[in-house]
Amino acid sequence: MSEYPHLENALKHHFGYDSFRSPQREIIIEALENRDLLVIMPTGGGKSLCFQLPALMKAGLTVVVSPLIALMQDQVDGLRKNGIAATFLNSSVSPHQARIREQAIMSGKVKLLYVAPERLLSERFLPLLDLVHHQIGISAFAIDEAHCVSEWGHDFRPEYRQMISLRQRYPNVPMWGLTATATERVRADIIKQLGLNQPSVHVASFNRQNLYYEVRPKKKTVYVELLELIRETEGSVIIYCLTRKKVEELAFKLQHDHICALPYHAGLSDSERSENQTKFIRDDARIMVATIAFGMGINKPDVRLVVHYDISRNLESYYQESGRAGRDSESSRCLLFLSYSDVKTIEWLIEQKTDEQEQMIAKQQLRQMIDYAEGTDCRRTIQLSYFGERFAGNCGNCDNCCNPKPLEDWTIEAMKFLSCVARCKQRFGMKHIIDILRGSKTQKILDKGHDKLSTYGIGKDKTLDEWRMLGRSLLHQGLLEQTDDGYAVLKLNSFSLEVMKKQRSVSIVVPPKEKATFQVRSDKAQEADILFHKLRELRKQLADSQSVPPYMIFGDSTLRLMTQVKPKNKQEFSQLAGVGTHKLTQYGDKFIQVIQGYLQDKSPQKQKYSSLSTNEDISDTELQTFELHKQGLSVQEIAQQRDLRSTTIIRHLSDLIAKNQPVDINLIVPVNKQKKILQVLDILGDVALTPIKEYLGDSYSFDEIRLVKNKWKRKSN
Ligand code: ADP
Ligand code: ZN
Repeated sequence: MSEYPHLENALKHHFGYDSFRSPQREIIIEALENRDLLVIMPTGGGKSLCFQLPALMKAGLTVVVSPLIALMQDQVDGLRKNGIAATFLNSSVSPHQARIREQAIMSGKVKLLYVAPERLLSERFLPLLDLVHHQIGISAFAIDEAHCVSEWGHDFRPEYRQMISLRQRYPNVPMWGLTATATERVRADIIKQLGLNQPSVHVASFNRQNLYYEVRPKKKTVYVELLELIRETEGSVIIYCLTRKKVEELAFKLQHDHICALPYHAGLSDSERSENQTKFIRDDARIMVATIAFGMGINKPDVRLVVHYDISRNLESYYQESGRAGRDSESSRCLLFLSYSDVKTIEWLIEQKTDEQEQMIAKQQLRQMIDYAEGTDCRRTIQLSYFGERFAGNCGNCDNCCNPKPLEDWTIEAMKFLSCVARCKQRFGMKHIIDILRGSKTQKILDKGHDKLSTYGIGKDKTLDEWRMLGRSLLHQGLLEQTDDGYAVLKLNSFSLEVMKKQRSVSIVVPPKEKATFQVRSDKAQEADILFHKLRELRKQLADSQSVPPYMIFGDSTLRLMTQVKPKNKQEFSQLAGVGTHKLTQYGDKFIQVIQGYLQDKSPQKQKYSSLSTNEDISDTELQTFELHKQGLSVQEIAQQRDLRSTTIIRHLSDLIAKNQPVDINLIVPVNKQKKILQVLDILGDVALTPIKEYLGDSYSFDEIRLVKNKWKRKSN
């Protein structure tokens, strides 16, 4: 602290933050001392600040090289929102505009210039750079996404290789490489390829503390679970699927359920893709359903939930994709649905590879991914160990740490399973074995005469999924093996024999059968949510009027602070983390007004629901039903008397409810059922009837759900 006491002031003044994150401060000090640097931080770690703050504090121009045009615009917009003089030059800028910007640079007004590598090194641009160097001074070259320089990385760009000529041309200008790459090999390559001179290397932890990791088995109810997750989330959601087709299907289904979801995949036209992306960034669409093609080029800090509807191919991809949640350090959730048929799809894709070496690596990586998903240890520990970082013990922020899953003794089941493998002479795969255990009459079983085996039908008490879970676990625990010739034939080993002889017991992790009960949030939490929502609305309005994404006005964390502190004046407002000098003058009053308005409104509880209105059209037939209902007749009685079907009567009654008529729903749907339906509606929201029914099960009829839903809708308007 002592050596550079003014750093914190500069941070607050320019960016509104109170303190540095580790290791930002050390990096910035070395940057100010003109050292070469290699900065490795996970996504959301706060890399940009490491070159942006020094750029503002040093004389001259800092040149930032960035491969992604969309990101450039983004970063420059963000800086300008903080009143910082930044600009960019790339192929999207017209020649006329470019000249204006070049003049601004030569006048010394610009502190940060973002530029694409191919332009930077062009014949036309280098002379300009020389001029800047002599007249204004180049304070540093910051090479963002520096892993692009390496063939070993996942995103090699040949034009990055030319960057070394900068070092030769301007030997005294410090050079900073920044990346989120996790692997050792790429790091070494960056130093070599950029010609970094004895760089100070800073590696931040890859632990993303604010992310909650969870894996769930993908069951039939997966879609309903997804709806519930979406309802629980305030803020943006990314849902990753393996294929374009799945993306399309899921986006369509969600739209059908009145959820504003957009698709994103390589099959869409460029304009569709960028349109959908912009809508997502601007919070016009809350949900993005995407293949992994989505996310590389965007930097939306306030994604609150990333769902992998299908499993990833490897753990590094999973880490990077799920890592798009919570870049702003606010708590966010990452959830993976594990299904073995998705695993099969990936295996099939891997088998299409022609290079054997590549195939083997891909298979091994997939295996590690499955191990993670099936694992019962702390998820964070597994992930970090993959990157060679040790993390011991309970993280308190993953499903395995928060709800350790119970182990059950399944020795008997394992014996049944393994002896069935033995009876089939170790010549078949899992599906066939399970079919035999469950006594199925598949053609294959009949053809082979496997219905005559002593193990045929001895496992009817367990579902297909349960047997599969056991089979997987046996493989996972090394108590059974599988050929890797593409047929996945099950083979016994010495441990299997021990199990079969009852010399070894088998425990497996079983997911809890009952769903967690509905959570009721406290009144206080709900109030904070209401204010948060109002502040988000204001933020959205301001953002739209300036054509920027909402997060550039203020991040979610700053809005959250507003709901807690409820500042009364500009002085109090300026104290909030995220409020710099520029934003205070720009937006302070507007946000204070909303907060104070909310506090005043809240005091005398306002009448929420308007009284009955009878203005809406009621048809004659509805009126007749209504009259009989008011006389206390049941649905069946009304149906009989009017010679109509009872579903028609119910339709009348629910329409009457929708038209705000006093239908006594208690006469039609038992109160306890109503309660349950209402709970589910609160979770899932205004979705179609089918998912609600899927959630509730067979004892609830569509009619009952429709009635309660209409009543609920009426209320929530
Ligand atoms: P990266 O480029 O490493 O993915 P960013 O530079 O985009 O990360 O920073 C991620 C988020 O963290 C941004 O919203 C940024 O404003 C915020 N941030 C960075 N440094 C700090 C800090 N010292 N205090 C609070 N927020 C910070
Ligand atoms: Zn954990």
